Amino acid sequence: MRALVKKAAFQFGILMLLLSGLQVFASESLRLQYGRLVPSWQRDLLDGDLRLLGQVNWQDSDGELARVFGLHETNGKNLEAWLQQRARYIVDERFDTPSKSLVVLAPKVVYVLASDLTPIDSYKNKKTIDNLSKTLRARAIDNSRKNSNLQVSTTGKVMMANVTSRIFPYFRYKNAFMGVKIDGVGVVAIDSSQVGIFRVGEGLFGYSKLEQGTDPRRNFANRIRRLRTLVHESRHGDGNGDSGTFPHIQCPEGHELEGLYACDESANGPYRVAALLMQSALEGCQADGSCPVEQAEIMKLVLASDLSRILSTLKIMGIDGKEVQPLEYDPTPEIVEAIK
Ligand SMILES: [Zn+2]
Repeated sequence: MRALVKKAAFQFGILMLLLSGLQVFASESLRLQYGRLVPSWQRDLLDGDLRLLGQVNWQDSDGELARVFGLHETNGKNLEAWLQQRARYIVDERFDTPSKSLVVLAPKVVYVLASDLTPIDSYKNKKTIDNLSKTLRARAIDNSRKNSNLQVSTTGKVMMANVTSRIFPYFRYKNAFMGVKIDGVGVVAIDSSQVGIFRVGEGLFGYSKLEQGTDPRRNFANRIRRLRTLVHESRHGDGNGDSGTFPHIQCPEGHELEGLYACDESANGPYRVAALLMQSALEGCQADGSCPVEQAEIMKLVLASDLSRILSTLKIMGIDGKEVQPLEYDPTPEIVEAIK
């Protein structure tokens, strides 16, 4: 597999040389880049969240974070590298991807590890959620949850959505190597499902009225909560074939979120990576006393909610005399190989 990826990376290099006349931005950006319409207060908060990655006392007592994330060791530097591989661009809440924002960089390419699936996405007839009536809006939000891996706050506000995971199946369907135009950034070449473009809304920066501090958005718990959301959305860039983008499934009967596409079948999907990050920060800040009790309580609530959405067992368990194994998807991403 590794050899295949390397070979593909080499061939992709050649492809990029062929395209050097075009203004294509290198995809291996090391920092988040923001679209022009992302408000500066949101950039400030998100940049601060990312700086925190290197300062948190990350704990991983059972080694599960390192195993599931595929890290050699759990620390801020490795978590930063994991995110940098997946989280590249932040766009504003109203960012849309109509055909005029898409650029064909090369027709007829091969998508490595892709299946023959056609896009289930409502890509072509998508409407702006804000223009719909209340009932239709609720339904649209539900569909978006299913189709675009959108996270919505309890008040119905957009938190974050992985734009790439929404449009990637379309590019693959077209067998074309495509780019997305982002105002203020340029054309972003989508050479892998991991080139994360994230749509960020006000819901991401919400907090409870009971929270203390002059600006609760800067509290430790809220910064970790936003990082948890970024990690969750980043996971939607992993996987291939049927498990590509780690799609959510409907929560089962009797679940608090019954019928909503807000659960994970696998034990290594978006809700698991999110839970592991939260657990790790919580363990660390409780050990060194760096998080106030009320903030630790908020973190526990978020953690419990994430864990409740994972339908697979997390570890090998004995149930009715049988050994039950966790269900885990192959996280290897899909990449564009070369011109056919
Ligand atoms: Zn999700």
